[in-house]
Amino acid sequence: MKKKYLNSRRAFIRTSATGLIGASLISAASPAPFLYRRKKEKLGIALIGLGYYSTDLLAPALQETEHVKLTGIVTGTPEKEKIWSEKYNIPEKNIYNYENFDDIANNQDIDIVYVVLPNSMHKEFTIRGANAGKHVICEKPMAMNAVECREMIDACNKNGVLLSIGYRLHYDPYNIEAMRLGQEKVFGNVLHISCGAAFRNTSTEHWKLQRSMGGGSMMDMGVYPLQAARYVTGEEPVSVTAQSYTMRESCKDIEEAVNFQLTFPGGTIANLSTGFHAGFNYLLVSAERGRFELQPYSGYRGIKGKTSNGELSFPKMNQQAAHMDDFALSVRDGQPVRVPGEEGLKDMIVVDAAYKAMKNNCAVSL
Ligand code: NAD
Repeated sequence: MKKKYLNSRRAFIRTSATGLIGASLISAASPAPFLYRRKKEKLGIALIGLGYYSTDLLAPALQETEHVKLTGIVTGTPEKEKIWSEKYNIPEKNIYNYENFDDIANNQDIDIVYVVLPNSMHKEFTIRGANAGKHVICEKPMAMNAVECREMIDACNKNGVLLSIGYRLHYDPYNIEAMRLGQEKVFGNVLHISCGAAFRNTSTEHWKLQRSMGGGSMMDMGVYPLQAARYVTGEEPVSVTAQSYTMRESCKDIEEAVNFQLTFPGGTIANLSTGFHAGFNYLLVSAERGRFELQPYSGYRGIKGKTSNGELSFPKMNQQAAHMDDFALSVRDGQPVRVPGEEGLKDMIVVDAAYKAMKNNCAVSL
């Protein structure tokens, strides 16, 4: 588990500095079972689900990518077909709906499918994509629980396709630096992590407010502080306690806010918060000989950071473009996947335990 941020650093260098894509960054030991016989200049990707994240972030990011381009869409809303095909020049033969999606197996224009659907649909479409022989990126949280995550990983392995989870912060240079500072113990052992990611969700009917659809603040935003605690320590937690709060009628089916606490084998305590009740976003780390912090820490842009030694400053970049480009290189050149399905599984093991802790008001060992 140690120094897992190193691949992130490589990925950041690889995707942020054209011309640095060189043999020195490509491990000779990397397995290459997915090499394409004839290398395409750019791989093709199809977005499944054309809601907020696809429309506002992923499709625009795909206008900046070097190694992958938007070649297909999968949507249940016929009106979106015309809008997207005109805007992004997508031919009719590359447009699918949720019923005929499996026919994508015969489409050579599409190498990767990206599941951007409600969380309860992640497992089905990841498995259908894998069975169609397509490599898959699946949004966070990976699935409804750890059991589903294992089924998704198995399906991808069985079909010989790669799987990545949409944890874009593994490509953000500030978060990569937090991984390095924590995992390399630059300020000594990490003693305490305080991290929160929440926003004021004012919708009343959205699927994120429905438990059966994979809603809830723990599922939606809680995985960010959980990720941060795991990647700053480079360890897996050994116990979790959690308390949930629901104040508003609109949130009656889910947990509106959650405080949860993790302990790690190296002795770190993490005090984590999430919610749909208020806006906050911070990562504060106290170590034996100093501190480092990012605030805000998980946005698409505008992340700021400092350590006991001074301000952090990194060039602007596009997290989503970097992630999709890096995954395309994994598919094309057989490089290890930086954020594989196992990363989503590890989070869901903790999320499952956190729900148990909330329900039974007890500490759950992992
Ligand atoms: P959204 O509600 O805006 O979009 C969901 C899409 O799924 C819509 O196009 C909708 O039509 C479609 N859909 C298909 N069947 C549906 C059903 N039965 N009920 C509701 N919608 C259905 O959601 P979003 O914010 O785009 O989130 C999609 C996924 O992306 C989620 O897993 C979410 O966690 C993830 N996400 C990730 C990030 C990130 O920063 N990595 C940011 C936002 C969302």
